Amino acid sequence: MRAVQVTRPGGPEVLETAELPDPEAGPGELLIDVAIAGVNYIDTYQRAGIYRMDTPYVPGMEGVGRVRAVGDGADEFAVGDRVAWSETLGSYAEGVAVPADKAVAVPDGVTDEHAVGALLQGMTAHFLVNDTYPVSADDTVLVHAAAGGVGLLLTQLAAAKGARVIGTVSTAEKEELARAAGAAEVIRYTEIDDLAAEVRKLTDGAGVDVVYDSVGATTFDAGLAGLRRRGMLVLFGASSGPVPPVDPQRLNAAGSLYLTRPKLFDYVAERPELVTKAAAVYQAVADGTLDVRIGGRYPLEQARTAHEDLQARRTTGKLLLTI
Ligand code: NDP
Repeated sequence: MRAVQVTRPGGPEVLETAELPDPEAGPGELLIDVAIAGVNYIDTYQRAGIYRMDTPYVPGMEGVGRVRAVGDGADEFAVGDRVAWSETLGSYAEGVAVPADKAVAVPDGVTDEHAVGALLQGMTAHFLVNDTYPVSADDTVLVHAAAGGVGLLLTQLAAAKGARVIGTVSTAEKEELARAAGAAEVIRYTEIDDLAAEVRKLTDGAGVDVVYDSVGATTFDAGLAGLRRRGMLVLFGASSGPVPPVDPQRLNAAGSLYLTRPKLFDYVAERPELVTKAAAVYQAVADGTLDVRIGGRYPLEQARTAHEDLQARRTTGKLLLTI
């Protein structure tokens, strides 16, 4: 089968197309003909070695496709079923073996592109606004990188709860997208000196109730400084680099703040949690509540370009690799 392979950690250039043996469906697994693989920021951390990986490996955690073979005990699914997954390495390939308990059925009303576009990033947005910090209509919410894959979905879900969303973006095009997703205010954070002061200005000095920060190094300090008393900083990514160690005394000094560093896989670790969350997201896609923007489609062989574009901040919404 055709697949992308990483033989050593490094930049996008280490993503090479290779001819590899087909995987097999082991016990509890499904062998899937991949139709589309999802590109996620975590793929770049793994490729670069920020998250340690054994090499060689086939990257990509997410995809959609049809079941070609069912391993022993994977009886929940049958050959021909259309399924999606977001927690299985090896997805940048024509075929992948996915543990059946990590696969979810895709409802008929959801296209392949939306099944991928809404799964990892949609479930992330969903747990962030419902579970990590349950957003309410009284809240003012700061969403960094609001025109990104997670950002656009997070903005929509928070706005749908009636919250006032302040988004940050780097360009005019991204500002337009964030506003269309429901952001009441948008800050071009690359064009100002004092982000926290801007946030305070937009909240009459009070600060926001919650900050959703996937950017990390360049936004963390402003996030803490832009929160209201007892507000929560939800740090969930490091697109600009990791945040250095934090002295807990800073949370005290800034107003008894909360700081959490959540990841999706802890919110969908149990099968019922995964099934419920995926179903909620797919329902929102099917009924039109959640608009999934596909920001780029690349053939498998151009995985390298997809990573380059993502890390150079050239993209919006979801990036897909078509197989
Ligand atoms: P995005 O589409 O959001 O792309 C990243 C965006 O971050 C860019 O478009 C850019 O938007 C912004 N950004 C700001 N500074 C930088 C920088 N120095 N380099 C690159 N980008 C920068 O990606 P995803 O939606 O795939 O992921 C967003 C984040 O969420 C990632 O950090 C990812 O790790 C995290 N994540 C975490 C999960 C979890 O469970 N904890 C699950 C899923 C994603 P702009 O140009 O507007 O600044």
